[in-house]
Amino acid sequence: MRILIVEDDPLLGDGLAAGLRTLGFAVDWFTDGAQADAALAVAPYDAVVLDLGLPGRDGLHWLGRWRRRAEQLPVLILTARDGVDQRIAGLDSGADDYLVKPIATAELAARLRAVLRRSSGRPEPLWRHGDLEYQPASKTVRWRGEPVELTARESALLELLLSNPQRVLSRALIQDKLYAFEQDIDSNALEVHVHHLRRKIDAKLVRTVRGVGYALGPAEALEGERG
Ligand code: CA
Repeated sequence: MRILIVEDDPLLGDGLAAGLRTLGFAVDWFTDGAQADAALAVAPYDAVVLDLGLPGRDGLHWLGRWRRRAEQLPVLILTARDGVDQRIAGLDSGADDYLVKPIATAELAARLRAVLRRSSGRPEPLWRHGDLEYQPASKTVRWRGEPVELTARESALLELLLSNPQRVLSRALIQDKLYAFEQDIDSNALEVHVHHLRRKIDAKLVRTVRGVGYALGPAEALEGERG
């Protein structure tokens, strides 16, 4: 999951970005709306966390602009303005949630998961695919009933594949979803993550689509013998 944070307070922005990264999100943090707007045009974000009081045009300006452009992605407004009028204006401008500072990273992450559940079309708390079970909230994985330990990046890749069970995902899209701008990506990092998922779970979990990228293996291929 790749998240865009727009927050001009350096302490708060840095804290939220670092906190969400430790929870496995890929995060880009910008301190003004124009930079965020440019990033939004080129990277496939899953959600935006938007401060209202920003230098230059404020958060409501940018939110309105994105909604007029038919950007569908969830936007969570984050602000110190806790007046009822501002909340109503934010929600009426197309915000999906409204959070008042200060906010703990754990709560922000939970709110993000809630809006992402609604936007992903997979609202159920436990995802099943063949004999694989995945809980997005806790990132826990069970394969044939046994727990599987995944790194944050491996579970992000698994979640991306499970969110798009019918799609072939290009290498570029997967990398853009798993890594923020400034992160150095080893050229074969993706192959390594795929290799680990296959080794830890099942070789048929991830299908290589030559010259394009990867796809989730069919559920039937991941079902054990039924007795
Ligand atoms: Ca601010």
